[in-house]
Amino acid sequence: MSAHPLIEKKYRGRFAPSPTGPLHFGSLVAAIGSYLDAKFNQGKWLVRIEDIDSQREVPGAASEILFALESLGMEWDEEIIFQSRRSEAYQEALNRLENQNLTYPCVCSRKEVADSSIIGFSGPIYPGTCLKNPPSLGKSYSLRVQTNENQIQFQDILKGSYSQKLKLEIGDFVLRRVDGVYAYQLAVVVDDAEQGITHVVRGADLLDSTPRQIFLQQLLGFSTPRYMHLPVVTNVEGEKLSKQTNAEPIELESVLPQLVKALYFLGQNPPLEILEGDLSSFWKWARKNWQINLIPR
Ligand code: GLU
Repeated sequence: MSAHPLIEKKYRGRFAPSPTGPLHFGSLVAAIGSYLDAKFNQGKWLVRIEDIDSQREVPGAASEILFALESLGMEWDEEIIFQSRRSEAYQEALNRLENQNLTYPCVCSRKEVADSSIIGFSGPIYPGTCLKNPPSLGKSYSLRVQTNENQIQFQDILKGSYSQKLKLEIGDFVLRRVDGVYAYQLAVVVDDAEQGITHVVRGADLLDSTPRQIFLQQLLGFSTPRYMHLPVVTNVEGEKLSKQTNAEPIELESVLPQLVKALYFLGQNPPLEILEGDLSSFWKWARKNWQINLIPR
């Protein structure tokens, strides 16, 4: 059921690549899915470079990704946000949580956490050691948020109902690492709110992060966007395509076949003649004929 058209917020979607390497087929699928869903709904499509962790960043990758999007004919609306320039906004959000006594310092090393925790599907479930025994703060520390046993539930557009009890399934998670880097979960929530995102379309590898993000949105008083988690592209070994699994960059000499392949991957049925046309006829067809009910679940 949708809200009255006059009060429904205008669609604002986004693509948020981490510049850990050039655009590959897996990230192309996330880019196209988010782009077409926004355009089909007469919405805006924003791009955000998630370069918060400089250790993981590959120099030049951000501009390569943006160049690839342009070559593919995917134009973004509004200015690009770079997470590396937004520390103040993340710290401000963290201060708000700190002022509500929702965060606590943690001095446990990775090994200590691993040794003292049950392993959940998203890594060790931190048992709250430093909440029970607050450390003396001589050395550097990370900041964790206190989770609870409430069920966080949302309706994914493709996957249906999904829920987690964070305290039991994830544990109190890190918002600022010991090296001062703000965690993805915090940055993404602050940025989605800042950019007024109404629809998050991304790979299903992030499905289990969504309850953490909804939890932070609730603590910070942000609205929760709609979520649609797309099927993840894997290689023959069944691993997600990524820089770590040596995914091939998108060839920019002949983009049309790759765009068509990405549409097929998303269950769409472009006619083969589309390969004989140009980029603009491809996008015209794709924007008009986007059907989410064809996307494999
Ligand atoms: N930066 C993340 C990635 O490249 C995506 C984050 C998101 O879409 O929320 O996997």
